[in-house]
Amino acid sequence: MAETLLEVRGLRTYFPVLSKLLRRPVGQVRAVDGIDLTLAAGEVLGIVGESGSGKTTAGKSILRLIEPTEGKILFESRDITHLSQSAMMPLRRRMQIVFQDPMSSLNPRMTIGRILAAPFEIHRVARGVEKRDRVADLLRLVGLPAEAAQRYPHEFSGGQRQRVGIARALALHPRLLIGDEPVSALDASIQAQIINLLKRLQGELGLTYILISHNLGVVSHICDRVAVMYLGRIVECGPREALFFDPKHPYTTALLAAVPSPEPRRGRARTVLGGDMPSPAHPPSGCAFHPRCPQAMARCVQEAPTITMLPGGHSVACHLYPG
Ligand code: SF4
Repeated sequence: MAETLLEVRGLRTYFPVLSKLLRRPVGQVRAVDGIDLTLAAGEVLGIVGESGSGKTTAGKSILRLIEPTEGKILFESRDITHLSQSAMMPLRRRMQIVFQDPMSSLNPRMTIGRILAAPFEIHRVARGVEKRDRVADLLRLVGLPAEAAQRYPHEFSGGQRQRVGIARALALHPRLLIGDEPVSALDASIQAQIINLLKRLQGELGLTYILISHNLGVVSHICDRVAVMYLGRIVECGPREALFFDPKHPYTTALLAAVPSPEPRRGRARTVLGGDMPSPAHPPSGCAFHPRCPQAMARCVQEAPTITMLPGGHSVACHLYPG
């Protein structure tokens, strides 16, 4: 049985809402509102949901780039929830992130060589010739020429810059890589290249991924399992095939309907998602999806659904599936 690399229990990340005048707390934004996840070594988990669903905050909270309010994070069986930032430092080598916008995450005043050398310098793992060789290896690994080390981020295309972002994340041989919308800022053809690159690297290096995306289509080719988030909670989670071909939650069905099909005539029944995502500062009563759900019942307004486990490792939080 594969090693459990990451375990997340009851993770909550709330942000205070401050009054305009006195800057006193007057409420809270429940960005992540009690999520549970288990990730085996070598697994690829997709976290999907619309903008505002809390998926990026969840990813950053898992890495402790944002401090969680409540819950537990175990990495390699070690509870890292309350580790100090200095105690987190050696662990950061093994837990890395690739950001959405490669241009804003790369320092425009630094050459690619200096950007890729920075992790070796910060963690004091290589110097001189060894450092240069390792930068060249990283460039080769992500399909960029060695000369790229002398150039600046603005001299590259968006796809090439994202390759640099991925190379930087891989510098210290991480085990867990979180991709926060890693291809959203790229053209469709380039998206496919970067997804293929991530897939190849995962196979070659035995990486474990969490890929965060608002687009189910993006994660469809690479993920083993997919978790669907809505307003800070996971509403459905399951193996990729189950989730794509037999979705249970009405929100997942609506997200899938928004994925363009190569065969539109044979496409899925169209479920157009009406309305906007409610504010996480004022979540609706009962099931948070009820104001937009075409199958909402009276019970949905009153009572929040709990997780129902279905066969095959599939789970859903919806009153249509009583536990
Ligand atoms: Fe729709 Fe009710 Fe299920 Fe929520 S619990 S998704 S409102 S049917």
